[in-house]
Amino acid sequence: MTNKPKILLIYTGGTIGMVKDYESQALKAFNFNQIIEKIPELKQLNCEIETISFDEPIDSSNMNVSYYVRIADILEQNYPDFDGFVVLTGSDTMSYTSSAISFMLENLRKPVIFTGSQLPIGDLRTDAKENLITSIEIASSRKNGEPIVKEVGLYFEYKLYRANRTSKINAEQFEAFDSPNYPALAKSGVHLAFNNKRLLDSEDHGRDFIVRKRLDTNIAILKIFPGITEQVVESILSVKGLKGVVLESYGSGNAPTYPWFIQKLEKAIANGIHIVNVTQCYGGSVLMGHYETSTQLKRIGIVDGKDITTESAVAKLMYLLGEELEAEDFHKYFGKSLRGEISEN
Ligand code: ASP
Repeated sequence: MTNKPKILLIYTGGTIGMVKDYESQALKAFNFNQIIEKIPELKQLNCEIETISFDEPIDSSNMNVSYYVRIADILEQNYPDFDGFVVLTGSDTMSYTSSAISFMLENLRKPVIFTGSQLPIGDLRTDAKENLITSIEIASSRKNGEPIVKEVGLYFEYKLYRANRTSKINAEQFEAFDSPNYPALAKSGVHLAFNNKRLLDSEDHGRDFIVRKRLDTNIAILKIFPGITEQVVESILSVKGLKGVVLESYGSGNAPTYPWFIQKLEKAIANGIHIVNVTQCYGGSVLMGHYETSTQLKRIGIVDGKDITTESAVAKLMYLLGEELEAEDFHKYFGKSLRGEISEN
């Protein structure tokens, strides 16, 4: 029996777990249970590491809600036995997945850190080692016997972010993620410096850890652009079974004022579809009513997504729809920070 933190490493797939076959030059998945052989440095960390790997690791482009549930199940089953968790996924959809997991885990009191890499772990210039080693260090960091991070984070290229605030911003650079509307939770330089004031720490210490697994995927993203036609808007809003829409608007939440556009949205809302207004801008917030081009949206009952990212809005929409709330409660909860995903002024 040691007092070392116990960390569970969950490998779902992605570039990080690949090695190059030097003969064919092709990337192929390796048996992740042999991770310690690939990165002997892991032995030097002051923690015990166990690994669980998907039987068939996936490219994160194939990520979906049933895989979210699989990750959540692993976290739930192992929650009492580990001090922290590191989840490895491909970076392409990591912001969507980690945002969804953040909503699925209620009253989380332990670190769940997502990471991956741009280059495979077996590549000479890989970013995988640093990302993995520091993520494990973050997941095992404690202060006064308590974990420092008690939320879902995403670590990439020397920065830990709140996962549900991130977007993938670069397909080439090692610095592949950013969190434009919320500062980094930690920076890794000579020291690992936590931004303590920005970390989530709920007052409800005694509340049970609950894993919510009912996500409703009957949603769509409607990204407007100058020239969008009535047919396109109509075809999205009339999808059978549609329950929620992320409306990606311009600037601070603005959209065309053409009567046909407003009427179609109004009709969808009357039919019980929840529409959430999120900006297409990289950073900043929706401010409904600031311009005439958003007052109509406010009047017809579109939900103000404030500074939430599209990735997080998609996840939150699936999560709240799964909870089958009344319209009034849906508005209330969407506009409020549930896991630190939105700024409440
Ligand atoms: N296509 C890969 C994936 O997202 C890229 C990566 O691993 O970063 O699974």
